[in-house]
Amino acid sequence: MKILVTGNAGFIGFHVASRLLERGDHVVGFDVVNDYYDPALKQARLGVLEEAAGQSKGNYVFVRADLADREAVNACFAEHRPDRVIHLAAQAGVRYSLDNPLAYVESNVVAFTNILEACRYNQVRHLTYASTSSVYGADTAMPFSEHQSVDHPLQFYAATKRANELMAHSYSHLFRLPTTGLRFFTVYGPWGRPDMALFLFTRNILAGKPIKLFNGGNHTRDFTFVDDIAEGVIRASDDIARPNADWNSDQPDPATSNAPFRLFNIGNNAPVKLVDYVEALEEALGRKAERELLPLQPGDVPDTFADVSELERTVGYRPATPVREGVHAFVDWYRRYYDAGAGR
Ligand code: NAD
Repeated sequence: MKILVTGNAGFIGFHVASRLLERGDHVVGFDVVNDYYDPALKQARLGVLEEAAGQSKGNYVFVRADLADREAVNACFAEHRPDRVIHLAAQAGVRYSLDNPLAYVESNVVAFTNILEACRYNQVRHLTYASTSSVYGADTAMPFSEHQSVDHPLQFYAATKRANELMAHSYSHLFRLPTTGLRFFTVYGPWGRPDMALFLFTRNILAGKPIKLFNGGNHTRDFTFVDDIAEGVIRASDDIARPNADWNSDQPDPATSNAPFRLFNIGNNAPVKLVDYVEALEEALGRKAERELLPLQPGDVPDTFADVSELERTVGYRPATPVREGVHAFVDWYRRYYDAGAGR
């Protein structure tokens, strides 16, 4: 099986590509390796993948290019002919989207259009792509279910991800392209993103600097361990969406019921208060944090909570790693990575 994994220099794409190589799939990685955060971390991830590929007899190629460049995308599909696509590249980050909307149009909307077109014309058997819990916005009934209306995203980032879901639906419907969108809930773990809370908190606690707790640390988040996300992504990709997919069969919708189109939450189904997440981190680090309590930020939602019954019913999987265990795994990785001399 040849699988194109976009965003494989990124946090989640790296984990997904590693697992696919481990089980013997042929992986085509595609990433522009931008400098949204430390490119050295992305290069280090690519180095690990190259090593893993060495062990799996060279089943790995890497294409460094921009997905917003249609010719580069088409050339990659023409040369490598992937059977399936797992699309994880994106301009991520909620706060950054407040001041940099065009980066999201390029990397999330233009790039996604190029991926859809390439899948359409190259008979790709299944497109699996990342969406986000942010599409749910605020004032949403808990836990968040795929059956709820999500047409009022709060941030521009979420708006572009919701656009991806709608664009995928139209390609599934018009061109019978099997698509599965996965709404990830706050992902954390080894090789994590330096712009996300766990990384920022760890760096500051170790440097003896205060950590910023927005909303006074009273948010709850359905923190989800990256290994569980990678497993869910691969299982969803293996289980190809078919026409009349029954994810919404209890409320048949004539607009979607005959399209090979699915959407699933992937979350831990066990929300944790931010202050408790910090406590787990303090325990793993063996140090106390100095807390700076701040108000809710524009675009932030107070709580997230995933209903994962559709994922479990369809692909037979649900994340399960407890936050304490996952935070310890992150701290172990962080210490090894920086003790090995990686720059900050
Ligand atoms: P990441 O920033 O670590 O990885 C994204 C990768 O995509 C980066 O390596 C970047 O260089 C690449 N990229 C960006 N624009 C590109 C372009 N135009 N062409 C080619 N490559 C490009 O982010 P991540 O945390 O690994 O997120 C993966 C996916 O999951 C994203 O779609 C993100 O929106 C989604 N997501 C992540 C989380 C989370 O908590 N990490 C939560 C919800 C959704």
